[in-house]
Amino acid sequence: MASIYHERSIIDMAFMNPQAALEREGLGRAMHDLMAELYPICRSITGDGVRETLRSLQKVLPLEMHEVPSGTKVFDWTVPLEWSVADAYIMNGAGKRIVDFKAHNLHLMSYSLPVRKKMTLAELRPHLFTLPDHPEWIPYRTSYYKENWGFCLSEKQLLEMREEEEFDVVIDSSLRAGSLTYGEVCLPGEKDEEILLSCHVCHPSLCNDNLSGIAVAVSLAQTMAARSRRYSYRFLFIPGTIGSITWLAQNEQHVSRIKHGLVLTGVGDAGNVTYKKSRRSNADIDRAVTHVLKHSGRPYDIIDFFPYGYDERQYCSPGFDLPVGCFMRTPHGEYPEYHSSADNLDFVKTESLVDSYGQCLEVLGLLEGNRIYLNQSPKCEPQLGRRGLYRSVAGQQEKQSKELALLWVLNGSDGCHTLLDIAERADLPFGDIRSAADALVEVGLLEES
Ligand code: ZN
Repeated sequence: MASIYHERSIIDMAFMNPQAALEREGLGRAMHDLMAELYPICRSITGDGVRETLRSLQKVLPLEMHEVPSGTKVFDWTVPLEWSVADAYIMNGAGKRIVDFKAHNLHLMSYSLPVRKKMTLAELRPHLFTLPDHPEWIPYRTSYYKENWGFCLSEKQLLEMREEEEFDVVIDSSLRAGSLTYGEVCLPGEKDEEILLSCHVCHPSLCNDNLSGIAVAVSLAQTMAARSRRYSYRFLFIPGTIGSITWLAQNEQHVSRIKHGLVLTGVGDAGNVTYKKSRRSNADIDRAVTHVLKHSGRPYDIIDFFPYGYDERQYCSPGFDLPVGCFMRTPHGEYPEYHSSADNLDFVKTESLVDSYGQCLEVLGLLEGNRIYLNQSPKCEPQLGRRGLYRSVAGQQEKQSKELALLWVLNGSDGCHTLLDIAERADLPFGDIRSAADALVEVGLLEES
């Protein structure tokens, strides 16, 4: 198989030929279709929704499902009881379900306790949640670690409920000892050292927040499974927070293998890419993502680590301090659709999914191709023309930049600096530096050190 860096990113290819544009369209459609399949499932941090989701992924990936029993101690936490829900609704005096979990799973607060009573609107009100600024949208609420129950509804629905009326309130749910479920895809490479890609699978019908990360992770796993790999890859599909805490607690002895990692979340909205650095802030993953974004030709944001957000909080806790950053588009909470029914299949754009996938793949390609070489003719410059290194270059400008890349690689390859070090210092795209290194290896001027 060809080295990963000989393959241009799908983004670049799309601009070069129509066949690649079709592939890009097909990939975008596949990711969106997967999201559409998973969208109706009622996921939470435990329960059959996660299992059903992971079973869908098993159709397209060699995914292993793990179950960790309720009550298992995981550092300062305990794996919670398993939550199941059969039905939930508020029915008016005329026998009409005015709020119905079966119509939209966001209507029920996640982890709601069972309830069966007649209630007035005044009694119900502390258990009702709306978004008055967006009267058509249903909010998303959870109460995992505090016993409670509640319904989420549109402000419009709430305004239709009359004070004098009595309502039948039914939540047919259960909280029982069961287990926490997560999925893992391991792709062994030449080395035991690993690249970790992690996404959360615990949100019900929400698209950008959870399904987009799943869709991009699945496509990346499929692509990497088909390529030769220097690194081993581990893809985690886990419930947010408690899932990464559980995984870390149960795999503490393996954690030192993780050399680079990304949490993938919110990768489908129309906004620009945002990269949140790891706690270390200058880990190779931070430098790799920064480099790819800088040379992408598209706007982006890079933000420093802060101990809030997604599972990077756990991977970057001081006891682990793993080199794991967070790749997203618009950060959570910075778009009004966040945690509401408006984060739906229309909100997520196929172009954004493809772009996120393409940029992450470039990052993986960079990490795979980032090696240290030793110049075999380090005393003065070797004669490049004599070795035919310029022959294939067409235009004058391209010739100059290729030549410059060759000179940078020769000069930088002192056995101490990686190709990324050289690309950064030269301010050239990693792909050009990588290609120059390949050409120099071919004529014997460079050897991996
Ligand atoms: Zn969320």
